[in-house]
Amino acid sequence: MELIVLMPFYNEEKQIPISIGRLIPLLDDLKIQYSLLLVDDGSRDGTWNAILNGVQQYPDNVRGLRLSRNFGKEAAICAGLDVADSDAVILMDGDLQHPPEYIPEMLRLWRDEGYEIVEGVKSSRGKESLSSKVNATMFYGLFHKVSGYQLANASDFKLLDRKVVLKWREFTEHNTFFRGLSAWLGFRRVSFPFEIAERQTGASRWSLRKLMALSINAITSFSAMPLQLITTIGLVFMAGALILLVQTLVNFFAGHAASGFTTVIVVELAIGACIMISLGLIGTYIARIFEEVKNRPRYVVSDDTDSKK
Ligand code: UDP
Ligand code: MG
Repeated sequence: MELIVLMPFYNEEKQIPISIGRLIPLLDDLKIQYSLLLVDDGSRDGTWNAILNGVQQYPDNVRGLRLSRNFGKEAAICAGLDVADSDAVILMDGDLQHPPEYIPEMLRLWRDEGYEIVEGVKSSRGKESLSSKVNATMFYGLFHKVSGYQLANASDFKLLDRKVVLKWREFTEHNTFFRGLSAWLGFRRVSFPFEIAERQTGASRWSLRKLMALSINAITSFSAMPLQLITTIGLVFMAGALILLVQTLVNFFAGHAASGFTTVIVVELAIGACIMISLGLIGTYIARIFEEVKNRPRYVVSDDTDSKK
């Protein structure tokens, strides 16, 4: 039996020795065949050197993969899963906010109870800002509404059976949303609650812009409902127009001239806003189609410590 622990890193030079130092003894104790797969997501600091040091220290148990630039965590996960040939893969954050102490229990659920996906569910969102909590609640609420998948408190801390990894590789979409797609895959799954640990070095590597992009990508890849919303908006405005028409006609035949320049402007502005929002929505989907049609690789690997052996 072989286990691969996959961790993406972006600008984490200080964190890497800590993470390796925590995981190696823990996995050694389990008396299984394992390796750590550390993906450097195009970091600009000494992350790659830190990974190389780890490989030098534990040549049999550490493998490094370096992407040619920062492609984002989702792409780094794809890169790792594409080369992770083992009976099971555990995906976790490189900053150890997903506590490695849960690994033995995850393995037990997979090996002894036959679950094919073991997923960590955050029992609380840990120490994070109010705005980030509000954003997360809004995003997961919206995602649940449009896609039907309830992912609130879901995390990327997961064990995947080999079967699941092989199916994952068949996805052809370029912009992936790991949490959503792994729910979509199904399989026999079980979840366990865990407490988010505190980051020991640095701060979150996610900018608001990256999070927004991920959210839009997640929603547009799981639902076309926003497009159908446009039709609803159109119908509402048509109903409004009909009511106004009737009122105007009644006024006209009663001998009052139709008046209200301001009303006309307001209605014009409202319709204009709706048209622009609708065009924006359609544009977002067209952009996604464009991205997919170009069919560029999801990521580019520039170094792999395994290929040198
Ligand atoms: N990460 C990455 N590429 C990115 C952003 C983040 O590989 O573009 C990694 C990061 O180094 C960390 C993990 O993804 O190991 C989770 O990121 P972070 O801790 O910043 O996210 P948060 O805990 O705030 O959700
Ligand atoms: Mg983190």
